[in-house]
Amino acid sequence: MSILSGVIGIYSKNRKDASQMAYYGLYALQHRGQASTGIAVNNNGFVDYHKGLGLVNEVFSRDAIDRLIGNIAIGHIRYASHRENKGLSIAEPLAVGYKKGALALSMDGSIVNAKELRDKLEDSGVIFQSNLDSEVIANLIARHHRNGLEDAVIKAIDEIKGSYSIVIMSSDKLIGVRDPYGLKPLALGSIKDGYIMASETCAFDTIGAEFIRDIEPGEMVAIDERGVTTVRLKSANKSHCLFEYIYLARPDSRMDGRSVYRARIEAGRQLYRESPVEGDIVIGAPDSGIVSAIGYAEESKIPYREGLIKNRYVGRTFIEPTQEQREQGVRIKLNALKENINNKRVILVDDSIVRGTTIKRIIEILRKAGAKEVHVRISSPPVTKPCYLGVDTPREDNLMAHNMSVEEIRKSIGADSLCYLSLEGLIKAAGGENEFCTGCFTGKYPV
Ligand code: SF4
Repeated sequence: MSILSGVIGIYSKNRKDASQMAYYGLYALQHRGQASTGIAVNNNGFVDYHKGLGLVNEVFSRDAIDRLIGNIAIGHIRYASHRENKGLSIAEPLAVGYKKGALALSMDGSIVNAKELRDKLEDSGVIFQSNLDSEVIANLIARHHRNGLEDAVIKAIDEIKGSYSIVIMSSDKLIGVRDPYGLKPLALGSIKDGYIMASETCAFDTIGAEFIRDIEPGEMVAIDERGVTTVRLKSANKSHCLFEYIYLARPDSRMDGRSVYRARIEAGRQLYRESPVEGDIVIGAPDSGIVSAIGYAEESKIPYREGLIKNRYVGRTFIEPTQEQREQGVRIKLNALKENINNKRVILVDDSIVRGTTIKRIIEILRKAGAKEVHVRISSPPVTKPCYLGVDTPREDNLMAHNMSVEEIRKSIGADSLCYLSLEGLIKAAGGENEFCTGCFTGKYPV
């Protein structure tokens, strides 16, 4: 199993500190997961790695980074799934030895036919050490080793179905592959004497890399001392994950030619056009509701104010596995700014309602701080279906909008009014028709 993650790959011609750049890049990708992280480097044909459970600053010490010497590095950040075991076996990169030497691999995504492929491999005697989809892919690559790494990757990719952005490192190459739908993001950039690939462009900015372009859906990019070569592997209708634009990605990232920030501002503006309401202030639910709240305020001319102060040292709340922990998580994480909230009609903008735990607590906090009314506006349509494509949304029966009407949700969370952005409105805000996966809103998945 694999789920939401962040990946990074660095290729430098001469520098031996590729791991340092990967480390800073992973910091920028931390929002894509807090469960585990790791870096693998190519050290003269050997793969060294360090990985562990927790945040980047918890897993890596100065010594750990200094020990990872090499000119090629890949890194990984993983989100905690409520379905996964939480042992070290979930941590990537995965480092393996095969006939042609050493290989390391990191992946963001989910392979929908992983079980079938794993069964086949096990029938032929392959032993697995984890339940990671990456291990299935590593084994497929090892099987097809005869004509070199690129050919092996092409053959492995031909067998897998699903959503993925994969970075692979061998003793002399860095390879990046994106799924044919472009469900998962992967961008290519340049550093002083080499290249970088990462799930989001915010990782480029952190290390002063220049954005070159998005890796195309179904494209494989291979980098070695000769430079960059690219192969189109599979093509399909583009289906970028719409959830990246409203929740997952950092607003300072660009994906597939679009600014995530601009998409969120537009979603907020469109939300006001579709669902205006009278109020005294607009506030955003930290963090991913804030940009859309600014858009809503701009369009409505109602002032945007800070209403909720977040304790920055606590992770995302729906990461913790139990309901009780999640509820506890919200209480330690947010506080209302009474000076702005007291005696006001508050318009609260959030990006989505999944289980409903967080928004319910936020409304309670706002009322306790003296809000006269709380009107909730959501900058996406109701999430009614789970994601099978690498984003760890809960099962259908835990999704609030799967089980309840909008009015029932409004009552349950204690809002004075509740409106969602339409799917058409969200697609328009994200800036492209027929280019998005809408599975968790419509139940129609590209794979
Ligand atoms: S189902 Fe939803 S979360 Fe999953 S890939 Fe599609 S849009 Fe993204």
